[in-house]
Amino acid sequence: MRKIFLIFIIIVLLFSSCTNSNTKLDNAATEQITAEPTPVATPVPTDTPEPTPSPTAVPTVPKYIFIVIGDGFGRGAMMMGEIYARLKSEDMQVGAEWENFAQQSWVDGRGESASGGTAIATGYVSPASFISQTTEYQDLYTIMDRAKEAGMSTGVVSNAFLLDATPATFLTHDDWRLNFDDLAERMYTCNVDYIAGGGLMRLVPKSYYSSFNSTDCRKRLVRDTASVSNDSSFPIMVEELGYVPYLGLAGAQSFLEQIDAGTFSEEKAICVFSESTMAYETHKMDPKNIEECEFVPSLSEMTEGGIQMLSQNENGFIMMIEEASIDKRSHNGSQSGNIAQIRNLNDTLKTIMEFYNEHPYETLVILTADHETGEYRYDEEKFAEFKTWAPFTWTDNADEMIAFLDSVWGVEVYGSKITNYVNYAVDSLWGTVEEDRANLYNYITLQASLELGIKPTTEYHSWQLVPCYTTGVSSGEFAKTTGIQDIPIIICEILGWEALPEVIEN
Ligand SMILES: [Zn+2]
Repeated sequence: MRKIFLIFIIIVLLFSSCTNSNTKLDNAATEQITAEPTPVATPVPTDTPEPTPSPTAVPTVPKYIFIVIGDGFGRGAMMMGEIYARLKSEDMQVGAEWENFAQQSWVDGRGESASGGTAIATGYVSPASFISQTTEYQDLYTIMDRAKEAGMSTGVVSNAFLLDATPATFLTHDDWRLNFDDLAERMYTCNVDYIAGGGLMRLVPKSYYSSFNSTDCRKRLVRDTASVSNDSSFPIMVEELGYVPYLGLAGAQSFLEQIDAGTFSEEKAICVFSESTMAYETHKMDPKNIEECEFVPSLSEMTEGGIQMLSQNENGFIMMIEEASIDKRSHNGSQSGNIAQIRNLNDTLKTIMEFYNEHPYETLVILTADHETGEYRYDEEKFAEFKTWAPFTWTDNADEMIAFLDSVWGVEVYGSKITNYVNYAVDSLWGTVEEDRANLYNYITLQASLELGIKPTTEYHSWQLVPCYTTGVSSGEFAKTTGIQDIPIIICEILGWEALPEVIEN
């Protein structure tokens, strides 16, 4: 018995000496270590302190890296996401996921998506329209190439069409972002294991249409288009490089089934669900489109697919996820559409943070943007005041809700809209509380934003600063970021990889 007790004391001493050496972890991770309870196998004598968990098992470099890009996501957009989150949580202290990130900086974007994506993918500062190429037309190594060299798995997810500028910078190379045939042709050399998004009409040749009955995930026939030649890279990727294709409606149904069961485990997969850009959130929120959008995978589900598939690799993964339509809705001049896409970004971050919470000592999450869109006007002081307002509480009584918004929040609304949106929720048209209430939250967020002076001033890109928000292992390293091109360079530094930017010699 005494021997067992002695061994136990030695174990306790070992544990506590390890704790002291644990200085490299950032604060967030350290907090979670001390907060996590430890199962103890040996009975503990009452006067002995409980051992803390062993930090020797804690890596100081990340194994799972998420690069999340909100296309066109600036401070005004962020504020709208923070309003929406507070409505939904009914707690003015509980906001958007990014508000809890350990490291929060504002940095220079690139003013346009090809150049912005190239900066984040390669560390190179290019003029507009270059897709991971130098001004001398040389291809650049991407962070995906570096990750592959290190034995990690890689993923690119976007709700745009996959040859759109931002995802393209992680997948292919060209000097002109609209050279879709060339972009498709050169994609077969990409070092990306999991590719998911839209763009059947630009990426998949007609010879493959029979495999998905020519129907996209919105149950519509894919238009016959000359923009993809039959000798595109797609057959090479599928037949020679071993990608399993998930295409159109049939692909989406099979994909969603596996995601729900937690069994999506392909080695390599290319998932192209919609004809072009995936359905906008406000389109899905329209009751007349419920049936049509039944099998449209969400950005969050496509991210979950990447997590299930890529986390099989014991060396970890790096995954880029783009919410592309924050930018696109700003170009449409739709502030309301913008809010819905920002909520979509936050939902996706929620999925990522669930994974993070299961692997807090191994995960790094980076949230940034290629540029801002809309040149939003906003007022930090008014916004700080908003956070002290009385919390919103859901009620099925539209009159009560209107009275609260008018007399407590001082936000103007059309009563008929509130009544209409409350009815959507009462009738449970979509079948989940979140979706059923989305129209109402979206509308109140819009009206509150206007009341707080949050409003776009153009329908174009701007040079406003963009977020570089990070959390998890090594997140503190990103405090030194001044522009988005620093992001892949810092990732290489953290992981001890060869520096970026670097040209690929042919
Ligand atoms: Zn744009």
